[in-house]
Amino acid sequence: MIYLLPLVSVLIGYVISRFLNPGTSTGFKLLLSFSGAYLLSVTIFELLPEVYAEAIDGIGIFIMLGLLLQILLEFVSKGVEHGHMHTTDKSTAFPLMLLVSLSIHALLEGVPLDEKGHLLHGVVIHKIPVAAILSVFLIHSKLAKWKVFLFLGIFALMTPLGSFLKMNVPLIAESSVYLNAIVIGIFLHVSTTILFEASRNHKFNASKLLVIVAGILLAYFI
Ligand SMILES: [Zn+2]
Ligand SMILES: [Zn+2]
Repeated sequence: MIYLLPLVSVLIGYVISRFLNPGTSTGFKLLLSFSGAYLLSVTIFELLPEVYAEAIDGIGIFIMLGLLLQILLEFVSKGVEHGHMHTTDKSTAFPLMLLVSLSIHALLEGVPLDEKGHLLHGVVIHKIPVAAILSVFLIHSKLAKWKVFLFLGIFALMTPLGSFLKMNVPLIAESSVYLNAIVIGIFLHVSTTILFEASRNHKFNASKLLVIVAGILLAYFI
């Protein structure tokens, strides 16, 4: 499941992108808000206490490093990880730097995943809107179809690869607490940005608030 679900989430995101316009669809925006609230909740409820339970001096520094890393990655990705793109660039060149940026993010988020945790669900739910946005961008770019699928294929494999490396490479397994701390920083930045951008102009939106509360409650009780 740990390898399969992240792959499936990219596929679902791709399928969604064929039916919904992530830029305008209300349903998509609600899904995005829900994914942000759910990801933030599992980070706070599970990943954060797990990492601090190891009682390692200065582990908080790695959380802040993860946050900074995500800020750097978003200079390249223009915000795909939090569910939209701030760019209208339509280049014919293969967006290699975009792929590298998203792959670093996706590879790292595979490290803390395990079979029992809710984090797997959180990452899967968070990946669906990301894959949808990415698909829309790639399909509307002037890239050849096989390049679009190559891009999505490599991107989809990164999270399972991160989990695989954690389970099979001793060095990565031994440093997983530091990597998990970095992932906390990444998730804090991504999820709070989603929630921040969901309430642009601070206009009250009952359905958005409802899905955010639902995301927090589901993460806590399930
Ligand atoms: Zn943004
Ligand atoms: Zn992610």
